[in-house]
Amino acid sequence: MKLLLVEDDAQLRSALVPLLRQAGYAVETAADGVDGEFLGLELEPDVVVLDLGLPRRNGLQVLQHWRQQGARFPVLILTARDAWHERVDGLRAGADDYLGKPFHSAELLARLEAISRRSQGRSDEHLSWAGVQLDCQQQLAQGPDGKAVALTGIEFRLLRYLMLHPQQVHSKTRLSEHVYEEDQQRDSNVIEVYINRLRQRFGRDFIVTRRGQGYQLRAEEPA
Ligand code: CA
Repeated sequence: MKLLLVEDDAQLRSALVPLLRQAGYAVETAADGVDGEFLGLELEPDVVVLDLGLPRRNGLQVLQHWRQQGARFPVLILTARDAWHERVDGLRAGADDYLGKPFHSAELLARLEAISRRSQGRSDEHLSWAGVQLDCQQQLAQGPDGKAVALTGIEFRLLRYLMLHPQQVHSKTRLSEHVYEEDQQRDSNVIEVYINRLRQRFGRDFIVTRRGQGYQLRAEEPA
């Protein structure tokens, strides 16, 4: 899942990025409101953390612009502590949740999980498709044979993305956008390698190749 972090505090940014990566997000960052607004529209992130006090354009305006332009990704705003009016304004402008600074990183991760789940219409952290189960918290999968499968970071992100959109066909380019980060070397041919690894783990027919279009999870058999 791709996460956009818009925060001008460099120290906080560099503390959060490794944590978010460890939690399985492909993280992109912006340090001011203008860049943040642009990246939000450009990258179509799956979830956004937006500081409200930003240089060049404040976070509230950024959020308003996103919503005016139809961006529907879930947004968690970071507000000054005790600034209840900021929270109210933020929620009215279309934020999905807020967190007052300073906050505990565990709370940020839990809230991000919750707003992502809500936006995907899921009710828990387990995804299930065609006999494969994925525990997003533990980053652990279970194959159709019931065996637990440990996943590498990229395998996990790829599988989660596919399982969140199981009926869509995804091009290699699209998959690599959601699995890698901006500064990582992004080679869409490598996606093929990871697709094959997932097939080795979950069965050759778990992921179907649509010639000239991309990949799709196999259809679920009616229960
Ligand atoms: Ca700030």
